[in-house]
Amino acid sequence: LAEDLGVNLQKYDMSEIETTGELAALLYRETQASEHAFVYLDNAATAPVEDVVIDQINQRIVKCNANVHRGIYRLSEESTATYEKDRADVAVYLNATPNEIVFTSGATESLNQAARILSDFVSEGDEILTTVYEHHSNFLPWQQLALRKGATLIVATSAEDLESKLSDKTRIVAITHCSNVLGTYFDVKHICKKARETGAISVVDGAQAIAHSHPDLKEIDCDFYAFSGHKIGATTGIGVLYIKDCLIKKLNPSSFGGGMVKRCSIDDCTFEDAPYCFEAGTPNFVGATGLATALRHRSMREEDLFLKEQGLMKHLVKGLSEIKGLHLLSDAALHNQKQVCASFTVEGAHPYDIAMLLDKKGFAVRSGMHCAMPLMTHLGIEHAVRVSPSYRNTTEEIDRFLQALQEVLLICC
Ligand code: PLP
Repeated sequence: LAEDLGVNLQKYDMSEIETTGELAALLYRETQASEHAFVYLDNAATAPVEDVVIDQINQRIVKCNANVHRGIYRLSEESTATYEKDRADVAVYLNATPNEIVFTSGATESLNQAARILSDFVSEGDEILTTVYEHHSNFLPWQQLALRKGATLIVATSAEDLESKLSDKTRIVAITHCSNVLGTYFDVKHICKKARETGAISVVDGAQAIAHSHPDLKEIDCDFYAFSGHKIGATTGIGVLYIKDCLIKKLNPSSFGGGMVKRCSIDDCTFEDAPYCFEAGTPNFVGATGLATALRHRSMREEDLFLKEQGLMKHLVKGLSEIKGLHLLSDAALHNQKQVCASFTVEGAHPYDIAMLLDKKGFAVRSGMHCAMPLMTHLGIEHAVRVSPSYRNTTEEIDRFLQALQEVLLICC
């Protein structure tokens, strides 16, 4: 594999490599460092898996791959204990309690599960309030719920507009913590407070925010919070749905199967307490180890990482703002506001062409409608290019990217 990847392992003392996870992490690092490596600027879609996550996942699979909450043999009990320790660590990170943390397959499933669970709370004539800034994953579940129940989906165009549209008919407020297109944050603490005051349930999509900030869920005081592991250096197929403790007892599960029932007869059943009643079937306990590891690892150094990312963003947005004919969808970073990605269009150049030519020059950026068609329509555009660096990038890479972009635009325009 090393040969295939063009990696020379001779400079390493292989006796120091104890697990295949460590070896995989080393190969990954070497390929990233090679001169042929991409400059990866699509972290908002998926971030590279952290070395420490690869290693811990490897150990989990090799040493402790038994089903959880089922067997009474030692390996299964060990696996259960690890799974619950991972849950407890995620809870600590979010300032929540373990029973509030439901592991899911990702943010999309978390938000769909929230919509299914909350369907009992929505009736004909009720309103569900959301914004045009939502990723489809936090738009379609509410649109479909409203359609099924004969409720109305109200779509706000700003935080102020959302506040003005809250009424005694509002049952649910579904809002993103950070836009995956503009890269800017909503003051979700304030919005959740307003929702609470009108008796509405708040659902926050934290898929982007969790990658660049440390959400304190007690402080935000939302009812639901959703995110994925793969945007924070864990793997795909794992995510979290936080459900506020005081709400849990009023909610019914929406998926059924093994591990979530106390008793089951032909006519009836009783469910386990939360979070187990919301985790039907064998959970992704390997992914949970990866997600908890990513958060544990990050929490030791995140202040520095977030600061570095903000510096890179400011540099990037400034550079983009100086390119003639380029229209930034947001330049918040230039005004000292937090911005985690930069999206833009260029007069006379199609975003797909720009991204394809950048790829040929070794830069990975995202182009398209970013799973946010209502926002694209609102902005009067069809597609945009999105650049999303992370702490792994350098100022020098951003400079090379800006140079490459200008060369590409000479060809495209
Ligand atoms: N919400 C936002 C804001 C996102 O950016 C994304 C993914 O890009 C999602 C939800 C969905 O996440 P996933 O595809 O991991 O389920």
